[in-house]
Amino acid sequence: MLHPESTEISFKLNNGVSVPALGLGTASPADRFVDTKEAVKAAIKAGYRHIDTAWCYGTEPYIGEALRELFQEGEIKRSDVFITTKVWPVYWDKVSQSLDESLERLGIDYVDMFLHHWPLCYAKVEDLVSGISDLSRNPVDALGKPIYDPKGDWLQTYKDMEKIYLDPSDHRVRSIGVSNYPIEYLQIVLDQCTVKPVVNQVEMHPRLPQLEMNKFCHDNDILLTAYSPLGSNGAPNLKIPLVQELSKKYNVSANDILISYHIRKGNIVIPRSLNPQRLANNVGFVCLNEGDLQALDNVGKINPYRYIDEDFAAIVPGFTGRDKVVG
Ligand code: NDP
Repeated sequence: MLHPESTEISFKLNNGVSVPALGLGTASPADRFVDTKEAVKAAIKAGYRHIDTAWCYGTEPYIGEALRELFQEGEIKRSDVFITTKVWPVYWDKVSQSLDESLERLGIDYVDMFLHHWPLCYAKVEDLVSGISDLSRNPVDALGKPIYDPKGDWLQTYKDMEKIYLDPSDHRVRSIGVSNYPIEYLQIVLDQCTVKPVVNQVEMHPRLPQLEMNKFCHDNDILLTAYSPLGSNGAPNLKIPLVQELSKKYNVSANDILISYHIRKGNIVIPRSLNPQRLANNVGFVCLNEGDLQALDNVGKINPYRYIDEDFAAIVPGFTGRDKVVG
């Protein structure tokens, strides 16, 4: 049976904006920032039309260079590509400034989706060496504990994003959403804010199927975006025995199984690769059946694992803060 490629599938957000189901993740390791530019160009040439980035990744300027060249070469125009960026907790009360800095680095005048990266508020601590906009990305005290802003209010960040979205004279964002929000925080937003988030971007894959979150979001017309779908660095999820088994059954790559798992459920997925050959080969869509989807869900129901669980996140319900922040 013939199926479209993952790059040809799109969904409608709750505000009517269309979003390509497959996006390119760009949280590249610091020593590979430069390669991100070529990865973006390779991804666009392979059919990707959705790039996921963030103020805090440090990759926005490289994505900006890639876009400028792609526009100049006539490969795509701005309206052909869906770009997501995010406001980091250091800028929890500087949402407009964060957005302006992202737009400048990306060399564009609007983003298609603007997300609240984490529902927490960091203090602003100067870091002229490795900071972003001269501020420490993950400020810590002498004992290595995260320094939060005692006056911080994570909901204020979303409310400030709303103001930008709702201002008819402000055209910098086409949609707003959230990331790493537990269900109880989504409920607070639904109760206290005017604009429903279009997505919640969360870690999701067979080891962490997020079944309750899926039900809540789909019941409330909020799409989920799956981050770290391959299990992040080194792509450990490719080795899950059931994923291997399904890749043999359908005669496709294990990568295609992990990506199709999300798209088949109506969720967006944003794998990262800096390898142009993989990018070109990673676009196959498999129409997994209900039994396959349930079997993949069961992997994480029985033996769940969250790969991204840095110490600063421990104040957000559902996270343990098991890992030290890298970089
Ligand atoms: P992924 O799960 O996408 O895995 C990336 C790793 O998989 C890289 O090491 C890559 O190496 C490797 N890889 C990719 N394709 C293949 C393949 N076919 N075979 C073997 N290895 C492969 O990790 P991320 O954690 O980066 O998540 C994806 C994106 O999600 C991020 O880049 C970012 O945009 C977003 N994200 C959002 C977060 C949030 O808080 N909102 C948190 C974390 C991520 P190689 O480059 O060599 O191919």
